[in-house]
Amino acid sequence: MSGFAGPIRELVEQLARLPGIGEKTATRLAYHILKMNAEDAKRLAGAITGVKERIALCERCFQLTDIQPCEICRDENRDHTMVCVVEQPPDVAAFEKTGQYRGVYHVLHGTLSPLDDIGPEALRLAELVERVRSGVVTEIVLATNPNKEGESTAHYIAEVLHELPVRVTRIAHGVPVGSEVEYADAVTLGLAMKGRREF
Ligand SMILES: [Zn+2]
Repeated sequence: MSGFAGPIRELVEQLARLPGIGEKTATRLAYHILKMNAEDAKRLAGAITGVKERIALCERCFQLTDIQPCEICRDENRDHTMVCVVEQPPDVAAFEKTGQYRGVYHVLHGTLSPLDDIGPEALRLAELVERVRSGVVTEIVLATNPNKEGESTAHYIAEVLHELPVRVTRIAHGVPVGSEVEYADAVTLGLAMKGRREF
C-alpha cells in the first residue's frame, strides 16, 4: 500500500480488517473519514472505543448491555417465568422488534458444532441450567436458527433440561428452514413465537 501517508495507511489497514470490507472499500471509507469535520470524526472514534469500554454481557441473560442486569432483565413488567433461548445478541433485537414477546432471554453465544470443536462448555448452557434450577422459570422457548447446528443445539438443550420441572418449547417453523432468526421479518418471527410447540 505505497503512496499512502502513514496514518492513512494505518486507517485503511484497520478498516480492511472488518468483515465484508476489502481494501478498495477501506480506502474509500478512509478518504471519507478524512473529509469529515473533526467533531464527526471524534464522534465515530468515540463510538468505537465506547462499545469496547462500556458494553459487557448481562450477568443474567448474556445479552450485550451497558447496565447490570440489562434493561430487559430488570424490567418488572416482563414475564420472568418465560425464557427465550437464542444464538446471538442480534436475535434478541429481532424478537424485540416483533413487539409480541414479553418474556426474557438467554443468549448462548453460538451453537454446538463438533466440526469446529464447539462443545456445550463453549456456550452459556451451564448458566441456563442454573437459571432453570433457580425455580423462577417455567418455560424455555428454544429459538435457535432452523438450520442443522440450530436444530442439534435445540435438541441438546431439551435433553439437558429433560429432568428439570420446566416446559420446553420450540418456535414454529414460520422461520424458513435454513435461514436465520436475525434476518426473519418481525411478522414471521411473531408468528413463529405464537406457534411454538412442545419440544
Ligand atoms: Zn439480561
